[in-house]
Amino acid sequence: MDAEQLREYGHRMVDFVADYYKTIEDHPVLSQVEPGYLRKLLPDSAPDKPESFENVLSDVKTKIIPGVTHWQSPNYFAYFPSNSSTAGFLGEMLSACFNIVGFSWITSPAATELEMIVLDWFAKMLKLPDFFLSTGQGGGVIQGTASEAVLVVLLAARDIFLRKLGKGFLEKLVVYASDQTHSALQKACQIAGIHPENVKALKTDSSTNYGLSPDLLSKEICHDIANGLVPFFACASVGTTSSTAIDPILELANVTKSYNIWLHVDSAYAGSACVCPEYRHHIDGVEEVDSFNMNAHKWFLTNFDCSLLWVKDRNALIQSLSTNPEFLKNKASQSKSVLDYKDWQIPLGRRFRSLKLWLVLRLYGVENLQAYIRNHIELAIHFEELVSQDMRFEIVAPRTFALVCFRLLLPCGFEDRTNDVNGDLLQAVNSTGKIFISHTVLSGTYVMRFAVGAPLTEERHIDAAWKLIQDQASSLLEKL
Ligand code: PLP
Repeated sequence: MDAEQLREYGHRMVDFVADYYKTIEDHPVLSQVEPGYLRKLLPDSAPDKPESFENVLSDVKTKIIPGVTHWQSPNYFAYFPSNSSTAGFLGEMLSACFNIVGFSWITSPAATELEMIVLDWFAKMLKLPDFFLSTGQGGGVIQGTASEAVLVVLLAARDIFLRKLGKGFLEKLVVYASDQTHSALQKACQIAGIHPENVKALKTDSSTNYGLSPDLLSKEICHDIANGLVPFFACASVGTTSSTAIDPILELANVTKSYNIWLHVDSAYAGSACVCPEYRHHIDGVEEVDSFNMNAHKWFLTNFDCSLLWVKDRNALIQSLSTNPEFLKNKASQSKSVLDYKDWQIPLGRRFRSLKLWLVLRLYGVENLQAYIRNHIELAIHFEELVSQDMRFEIVAPRTFALVCFRLLLPCGFEDRTNDVNGDLLQAVNSTGKIFISHTVLSGTYVMRFAVGAPLTEERHIDAAWKLIQDQASSLLEKL
């Protein structure tokens, strides 16, 4: 490491990044390259001799950027947002600066202790119950993704039951969630060895706005117990990926508690909104759950990756995930006076991710962060109003946060082509490169999803996006 070279290149790289953000709207939001484009542009093997920084930066501009989909573009409305910010970016720089591998407290006490503190701060912002704080039996940890979060708590819950019943019961263990739950749960079940037939995706529909019915859960559990199965884990979602549906946590907890079923809440997207008092009620009942997760890297100005997980009983995680090889033994760990986050996650190594969240919280402050969320929700309401004013379109599911689910209606005689034409519309809109939106299917209906949440999005971007969608719809309707 040559510090002076780092200073020189680092300044130029920061200029490059700042220029990228300044001109981000010049790029097509959705990359328009064909599969395999890059192999044609880059050599077959690594260079034997060093190349110049200029050449590398020039290749980034001409060869890499065309293959980038610009998630930070103000015209990005697909999936859910993945926020970058000055504070988040600087935090990433600091993390790269120290480049520690903080698996145990001793490997960098500041990394473990800052993570505990920042997760406690965040728990207080969300008004989570005290048992999720590091001062109690539980605590918070930064995982890479919501998928890792649900996997580790599923393993913890599984092992509680298997320790009690014996390993032979694995094939009897049952998991419950709604059919709207993110596929991360299914993947976690696959990894945890849960029998595929015992992963119950309970049906939802528009009558409950795609929220999970506690009665249905209760009936299913009774039925499974009568058949000799062992219910052990349920996942409730607050803000599903398709339509931001909300499962009623408190009512679901009333069911799961009576069977000692571990209840996990996946609030990967909507958790950010719950730092605003007016949205906090969506996680009412969190006092009754075993674990809670939200992704600060989605909608909370914290660069990817930063998924926050709180557990009620940290020993459950540790019992499932800890190993203690000789080469990692140290006095601090053996004294049991410190946390070793290696025992709360799948990998051993871990980055100093709390830095970026700490910077975000300190450089913006809670009030500004709340205002940031509220602004996106206002913009989504504005988009929703625009859609509602055009009788050719309909809103398909209620908007709760900053996602609007809508579709184009077809004139009489063409209704059976509605799904296909909406797919064509999405394709037509995205292939302009001017905006990027994504889709889902709700009760067999193809739905376009417009998720507001990129940090640079302003009202003018929403207006332009809507005009583009309308124009593309008009030309498709003309061709019917
Ligand atoms: N849960 C919900 C509700 C999501 O929306 C997503 C992703 O968008 C996930 C889980 C999975 O997120 P991750 O990529 O962090 O695993």
